[in-house]
Amino acid sequence: MLSFWEQKNFLHYDLIVVGAGFTGLSAAIHFKKKHKKAKVLVVDRGVFPSGASTKNAGFACFGSLTEILDDFWTMTPDEVLHLVEKRYAGLKQIRKEFGDQALRYQHRNGYELIGAEQLDALEQLSDINHLLRKLFSKEVFSLVKDPQKFGFSDTVKAVVKNRFEGELDPGAYLNALWTKASSLGVRILTGLSVVEVDHEEGRVLAEKKDKKEALEFFGERVAICTNAFTQKLWPSSPLEPGRGLILLSKPIDGGIPWKGAFHLDRGYVYFREVEGRLLLGGARNKDFEKEKTTDFGVNPVIKEHLNRLAQEVIFPGRPVEWEMEWTGIMAFGAKKSPIIQQIGKKTAVAVRLGGMGVAIGWQVGKEVSELLSDL
Ligand SMILES: Cc1cc2nc3c(=O)[nH]c(=O)nc-3n(C[C@H](O)[C@H](O)[C@H](O)COP(=O)(O)OP(=O)(O)OC[C@H]3O[C@@H](n4cnc5c(N)ncnc54)[C@H](O)[C@@H]3O)c2cc1C
Repeated sequence: MLSFWEQKNFLHYDLIVVGAGFTGLSAAIHFKKKHKKAKVLVVDRGVFPSGASTKNAGFACFGSLTEILDDFWTMTPDEVLHLVEKRYAGLKQIRKEFGDQALRYQHRNGYELIGAEQLDALEQLSDINHLLRKLFSKEVFSLVKDPQKFGFSDTVKAVVKNRFEGELDPGAYLNALWTKASSLGVRILTGLSVVEVDHEEGRVLAEKKDKKEALEFFGERVAICTNAFTQKLWPSSPLEPGRGLILLSKPIDGGIPWKGAFHLDRGYVYFREVEGRLLLGGARNKDFEKEKTTDFGVNPVIKEHLNRLAQEVIFPGRPVEWEMEWTGIMAFGAKKSPIIQQIGKKTAVAVRLGGMGVAIGWQVGKEVSELLSDL
């Protein structure tokens, strides 16, 4: 039972954001920067934000050579270029806004391992560089002259370097967003799951985890930034969940002879060095159908595939012992671009961030905040 004071002071907002991942916190920050006196609330069901934003690999990337080539099957050259431009601009924006130290950003380049079956891609390397010249001052992709130095297995026929990519700590990025939002006066409530949004009236019904208490908030505007978990709040959403697995090894004996953000298999698999450990993830393409889920379990087929890659390709002949594993859920759909759209008189969504939320979450949040500002 709420008091008169609680009802008067805690339930009504100019903007309510559902979901405190990269997108939701970015939306709240941009809105509050523009409307300094606005009352802004962000609600998340986790004790701390617990979507893909805190589970990802921290690649500050915009697409490997084979991933970009793969995109040409479904997109026009202009669309591909636009996608890369948006991702790269997003990376530059967050580095400028928060600073490399706060993000624990390291510019150690991106790399892609090329196997025998992908050698054709190298023939298109200079064409892709030429296309990207519209966006970058220098050539993006180059062949590493002595790929043996990495110590990978001899199934790796070539390594392509991307001089514009780096890595960050996704928890540090989320912390930076959280701190900025709080400093601007955004109220963040965690441990509250939104079970219903009235898209016309802006009524937001939220429950505590034990379901013992329900609260009814009212927003002049509501931004739904729940990415893979949007179905319940927007039943007609054209979203497909995609689970991602990450394995983190114990410190590797003898150290790791390389640094950087590595991709293979058209970007489906990725690995990097984290504090002397191997972080290895992805491979949902090895069991696409089973990975279309919002369940946080581990698929043994995928785990085994990653394990084999670690032992046979990345560190051939050296033991790799796993210390941790976790999964996170992404949102995909027919197109690779995010959905930023009004879905009711007072409500808009900003979802479908795919595997690039580090790069685009900030800008997607900005766009949904601008859309809602105009209501
Ligand atoms: C394993 C893995 C690796 C990845 N690696 C990378 C990478 O290296 N680089 C990269 O750029 N991207 C990567 N991504 C993708 C990136 O993490 C996402 O694109 C990004 O985090 C999406 O941010 P978001 O804020 O839109 O969604 P989320 O981070 O999923 O946030 C949604 C929030 O909504 C909350 N929520 C959901 N439903 C409700 C509800 N009903 N009520 C209240 N709150 C709710 C959730 O708790 C969550 O905090 C990876 C993803 C995964 C899973």
